Amino acid sequence: MRRIDIGNPLKILFPDNCIVCKKERFIKDIPLCKDCFVALKKVGGNLCEICGKNIDEDEILCDRCKDKEYFFDYVRSVYYYDKTTSTIIKNFKYYNIKSLSSFISNSLYMKLQEDINFQDVEFITYIPQSFFKSYNRYYNQSFLLAKDLSELTGIPLAENILKQKERIVNQAVLPRFLRERRGEIFYPSKKEFTCFSILIVDDVFTTGKTLSDAARVLKSYFKIDKVLGITFARS
Ligand SMILES: [Zn+2]
Ligand SMILES: [Zn+2]
Repeated sequence: MRRIDIGNPLKILFPDNCIVCKKERFIKDIPLCKDCFVALKKVGGNLCEICGKNIDEDEILCDRCKDKEYFFDYVRSVYYYDKTTSTIIKNFKYYNIKSLSSFISNSLYMKLQEDINFQDVEFITYIPQSFFKSYNRYYNQSFLLAKDLSELTGIPLAENILKQKERIVNQAVLPRFLRERRGEIFYPSKKEFTCFSILIVDDVFTTGKTLSDAARVLKSYFKIDKVLGITFARS
């Protein structure tokens, strides 16, 4: 009888090859081969002073920030969202692979170090998960990254200050124009909390709506003056 090879399930959970192209890794702690690592595209160029979007050389703000669309004060991302960063994020999301979370957290940590605008951050927080997702034991990747970053920087973690409303539709499957029109997604927990400045950590910046809505609640309810954001990737 021919045996069916199902492979080694541990290989999926703890891959020791490049997470994108399966070639051999060049450094143990980096989940990529040398080629994929070198191909990672760091966010750079002339960026909007608030949201970090690439804009023309002679501009200071993007159109959305000129219209004061966002509630946060400053957001930066490490890499552009592409095949490599999306593969890292997806694998981290579903399998919570330690080498991936360390790679993402360390990238975020380096970004914080090199940008003077992040120097006065008093607390670190994260995008909360809805009760449904927590109940079904989905990883809250934003929480895991915020916790890591808090340990790396020594900046305290502000836990459970925001809650996420239950959503009927999975927003991720909606086209962008519908996602942007969705209502408010967060509300404050009962916990009393305030500070001058707080940093929200998330994996990816897409429309900015999620970070902006979290910032809105942090500012209006907790009277926090300055809300900053950092993400691993941005599309
Ligand atoms: Zn590779
Ligand atoms: Zn902007």
